[in-house]
Amino acid sequence: MTDKVYYGEKLFDPKWIAKRKRILQRDSNQCTICGKNEGRLHVHHKQYHIIKRLHKHVDPWDYHDNLLTTLCESCHSRGHYRYKIPIKYI
Ligand SMILES: [Zn+2]
Ligand SMILES: [Zn+2]
Repeated sequence: MTDKVYYGEKLFDPKWIAKRKRILQRDSNQCTICGKNEGRLHVHHKQYHIIKRLHKHVDPWDYHDNLLTTLCESCHSRGHYRYKIPIKYI
């Protein structure tokens, strides 16, 4: 399951686009695993948060910056293949 499928259309929200841009800048537009800085870079969520009371996922732009990281396409898909993203109920 990729973030894209997970969040669907929300990734086209201007709030996410702005947040994503900030994370890419912070990570110097490089994959934080292999250092690749070309091609399509993804901003990956290290955790997913679900608001217990509302049974609702937290919007992608509402995560703290340290839960987001820049990955290239191949590190991103490898990461999702190997690890299940922890889900935290808040
Ligand atoms: Zn990479
Ligand atoms: Zn991801």
